Amino acid sequence: MRYFPLFADLETAPVLVAGGGEQAAQKVRLLRKTAARITVVAESLNAELRALARDGALLHIPRRPTVADLDGQRLVYAALGDRELEATLFRAARARGIPINVVDAAELSTFITPAIVDRDPVLIAIGTEGTAPVLAREIKTRLESWLPANFGRLAAQARCLRQRIAAQIVDPRARRQLWERLFKGPFRGAVLRGADDEAGRIFARELQTAARPASGRVVLIGCGPGDPDLLTLQALQRLQEADVLVVDRLVNAKILEYARRDAERIFVGKAPGGPATSQEKINRLLVARAAAGNVVARLKGGDPLIFGRAAEELAALAAAHIAVEVVPGITAAHACAARIGLPLTRREHLRQFSVLTGSSAPGVPDLDWPALAAADAAFAIYMGINNAPLLRSHLLAAGASADTSIVIVENGTRPEERAVATTLRDLTDCIDQLAIRGPAVVFVGLNWADAGLARPASVQVYRRQQPNHTLHAGDAIAISAEAIL
Ligand code: SAH
Repeated sequence: MRYFPLFADLETAPVLVAGGGEQAAQKVRLLRKTAARITVVAESLNAELRALARDGALLHIPRRPTVADLDGQRLVYAALGDRELEATLFRAARARGIPINVVDAAELSTFITPAIVDRDPVLIAIGTEGTAPVLAREIKTRLESWLPANFGRLAAQARCLRQRIAAQIVDPRARRQLWERLFKGPFRGAVLRGADDEAGRIFARELQTAARPASGRVVLIGCGPGDPDLLTLQALQRLQEADVLVVDRLVNAKILEYARRDAERIFVGKAPGGPATSQEKINRLLVARAAAGNVVARLKGGDPLIFGRAAEELAALAAAHIAVEVVPGITAAHACAARIGLPLTRREHLRQFSVLTGSSAPGVPDLDWPALAAADAAFAIYMGINNAPLLRSHLLAAGASADTSIVIVENGTRPEERAVATTLRDLTDCIDQLAIRGPAVVFVGLNWADAGLARPASVQVYRRQQPNHTLHAGDAIAISAEAIL
């Protein structure tokens, strides 16, 4: 960031505009939104500026600008069409520390003017550091159509109510929650409709509610597989309401940027085999923080109800009579399948799809191996990478075909995403040779060909080299050391 955004208070500030043409008039138009005292120094003025001078909206000094005109000015715009004079003014202003902008000349400016969306007192300034004004205009157009024209009324109301609320609601958290309810609830609608009486009644009610002691709650939020774009709108809203974030390891750090900056962050994630906060400790933490009146967001990778130990947390919260809400997230299997266009069910042919965990302490989970080994079984294994050799041998022993399709997606939706197709026969080799560490989903019994589709080019194929194996175009063959020997 080279240009630091800030909003300057120009109330009664003396501002110089050097030049009297259309470009100067544009800046005067902008400045007139404030109560700045505008002086225009120019040999002649265009019709618009002449009219403003006549009305006393600006002071016109009818001559060529000089360095002496900078005296006492808080801000300077120059649009003279005379680069030499503009450069002289620029050097003099810079030497005196007076911010100056020469229109369309970034090299002769110490500040630039952003594109503005004006919902006074709400102002949005958009800058591209002068690189792409078209982009700034695109953003401006979108925001203009998104924000109701009278959006500023909300902020104006806030200005009126701020003191009353500060006097009556002493607890800062209760105050913030009240503001959130006002700006998100029926009060907002009433203000924007211009229904002031109704807004007043709603406000009185909300104020009463807020004066009662705050009650905390917990939201279990599914944060999806990694890509923040896969958060639900509800997840985003709850994140922004939270006072405390209790975060799992698989939650992408980028997602935390959507939370309030002042929200407390507690990381309880466990790397496979590494240290972790015990589940009992997490349960106690959630209960304690909510009981103290906080909105606690419990952030989990994927969906909270799938391999997320939600059951224990829900039970602990129910036992402590703490309100809890679950916000669903996109589970890893669904996101990974979507990334590689892999159908998980097929009309008439594939009527069942299940998810299972490949981990258990200790050893292999107790699963219905004959059912999983059936020719038409289709499932996704979570947490299966470390146990893959055992899972493979149990499936084969239960009668699964060695040719059963396997698709592994590692780090799905993250920048490091990889996808590989192989067979049950080569599963272990594939994981070793390609150094797949996870997090990864292993799909079993699913492929594109059965669905009448082509495998996407982004999915590589792993096959341990077989004596009579024929290569297919596009297959990336990884040869295991064992095969070479
Ligand atoms: N509640 C989560 C699952 C947590 S268990 C969900 O619904 O997705 C952790 C396992 O999820 C990992 O071992 C891995 O199998 C899977 N997983 C999580 N994020 C993943 C990702 N981005 N890509 C592939 N697998 C992922």
